[in-house]
Amino acid sequence: MFAPLFIIFGIAAGRAQSMIEEIAVGLYKLEIPLVNSPLKALNSYVVKGAERNLIIDTGWNHKESLNAMHGGLKTLGVDLRITDFFITHMHSDHLGLLPSLRTDTSCAYMNGPDADRFNSGVPVDAFIDFARLNGFPEDELEASLLKHPGFRYRATQKMFFQIPKDGDVIQVGDFEFTCIETPGHSWGHMCLYEPRRKILISGDHILGDISPNIQLWSDEWNPLKAYLSNLEKVSGFDIELVLPGHRGILRNARERILDLRHHHEERLKEITSVLEKGPRNAFEIGSQISWDIVYDSWDVFPISQKWFAVGEVLAHLRYLEEEGIIQRKMQNQLRVYSLTGKP
Ligand SMILES: [Zn+2]
Repeated sequence: MFAPLFIIFGIAAGRAQSMIEEIAVGLYKLEIPLVNSPLKALNSYVVKGAERNLIIDTGWNHKESLNAMHGGLKTLGVDLRITDFFITHMHSDHLGLLPSLRTDTSCAYMNGPDADRFNSGVPVDAFIDFARLNGFPEDELEASLLKHPGFRYRATQKMFFQIPKDGDVIQVGDFEFTCIETPGHSWGHMCLYEPRRKILISGDHILGDISPNIQLWSDEWNPLKAYLSNLEKVSGFDIELVLPGHRGILRNARERILDLRHHHEERLKEITSVLEKGPRNAFEIGSQISWDIVYDSWDVFPISQKWFAVGEVLAHLRYLEEEGIIQRKMQNQLRVYSLTGKP
């Protein structure tokens, strides 16, 4: 039934190279470069319909991303005046280019929690306070947040979004995409599922050779708990092909979901075993666990990677705390975590 075509060709669009892959008739993957990011590129999916097109996720608000996008759209003959957008979540690598692409006649869909947070602007002071509370070195705080690519290459203007709800269907040509709420990687992350072709456009909910970053930067929720339950939710769908927000497409959805669960279970164990040596703050824990990136040691991690790492530690700490396995207290104006003794 489903016959992927995989016609791959490169295009030169100025200096930027964009790679186009035809996934199914009328459905294309565009690789949009993310300069200097370990993610390398954002996968933007383009669905061409007889009347209107849909672009799913866009790339950073950066000229290399924009050039590659324009080059790809030109090759595919996409007219932006009859093109709508679906953004899986508010992170800049997915949303950043939207203001440069949408036209007066475009509709842009994004989930409600992310749309609200995006339009309220980046709470820089709250991020910095939270990071300080969790042991981030004072001298690196503000400069490092401002250097963070997610901050530098974000879309800066407020935007109107059409807010889809779980189960809503977006029709493009003969594609019928069901919106699936999958919070965890972001407040309101949303995937699209095409039941006839058994395709899941997974955003950053499921990725292949890298695990989606689950971060916590405020006390408002338990993102890891949400994420794990939404992995479970998605594993109930009949999926032949996962089209993720980064790296290659996947055919083994169930297996990958099990791997991701396992990854977080191991991470929880690793954090618990660091705390067996004594109380620690989140930044210290981050420096003492293993990270699957190319740098030799924690000290030489670029500061933006330390934000990702500490945010990820915090999401796991919140989960362990709610399970009653660890507790936190204030010590010298820092949050310090220790084991409760509960297995
Ligand atoms: Zn992403």
